[in-house]
Amino acid sequence: NQAKKRGLSHVVFDPGEAHAQADRLVMMGELRRAIEGGELRVYLQPKVEFATGRVSGAEALVRWNHSRLGLLAPAMFIGLAEHTGLIRPLTEWVIGATLDLLQSWHARGCAVPIAVNLSARSLHDESLLDKIRLWQAARGIGPGWLEVEITESSVMEDPELALGILHSLHAGGIPLYIDDFGTGYSSLNYLQKLPVDYIKIDQSFVANMSRSKDSAMIVRSTIDLVRDLGRKTVAEGIETQEHWEQLSRLGCDYAQGYFIAKPMPAEAFQEWVENFIPPVPATESAH
Ligand code: C2E
Ligand code: MG
Ligand code: MG
Ligand code: MG
Repeated sequence: NQAKKRGLSHVVFDPGEAHAQADRLVMMGELRRAIEGGELRVYLQPKVEFATGRVSGAEALVRWNHSRLGLLAPAMFIGLAEHTGLIRPLTEWVIGATLDLLQSWHARGCAVPIAVNLSARSLHDESLLDKIRLWQAARGIGPGWLEVEITESSVMEDPELALGILHSLHAGGIPLYIDDFGTGYSSLNYLQKLPVDYIKIDQSFVANMSRSKDSAMIVRSTIDLVRDLGRKTVAEGIETQEHWEQLSRLGCDYAQGYFIAKPMPAEAFQEWVENFIPPVPATESAH
């Protein structure tokens, strides 16, 4: 446009951008009210141990049951929450709701651990561990039932900061996962420094394994290295029997993905577990 040609682009009022700004402001107000007013939901996706077919845990994935727009996936609002500071109350709501679930499961005499996702911003929250401890104690939940996932790229945003928080969470008895591993540009060497129990191999590698030699190689070497470091691997995005068999043969420890189950409302989880029939184990490879 004319203004841009004259080098004035920075003072030009852009109606499109103004609309986007206004939309964000509206969404921000709505998200704040959603957190306070009970429009968020915890969905659960199971994790299954390859060796036994046992349901070993679940991941809590937040949804926003929006009054006009229906059920929204995290991609629609987590970024907004991170940019507006609402990520802290959102994270605290998810943790509280997850601990409530664990408490009700314990009362019924059965439970698996549940992992919550933390955003990079949570790594700046020094009070988080104390709060988790308080909330666990208030519900009579011991350490180990609430687990934490943090993406590799969040860790790499500020490795020193992340290392400190991860150490304190781990010392507080919270099992830790590195999420989306392979997409965050950490060296495999760096893993050694991290006080984490599980590495989640990003679903993009699993999806590409059968087509791409590189992906297959990355998956294989990640599994081997993680095992050598005494940690466990979880494969994300297992969508087919073929994925299940390939990863099982490579010695991956845990599976998660649509092949086992899509994320489901928390209320449906226990019934799902009771009816779950494990996939047939992979046949031993010939070589
Ligand atoms: P993530 O933690 O890596 O979670 C895995 C995502 O992959 C989930 O998407 C899950 O529904 C999806 N998924 C699972 N199995 C399969 C599969 O077999 N195929 C495919 N194509 N996808 C699969 P979802 O629920 O939309 O969550 C997206 C991301 O949003 C999560 O990635 C996580 O980074 C973030 N997120 C979710 N809940 C929370 C939360 O409570 N707090 C924060 N900070 N982030 C969250
Ligand atoms: Mg996750
Ligand atoms: Mg992931
Ligand atoms: Mg992800």
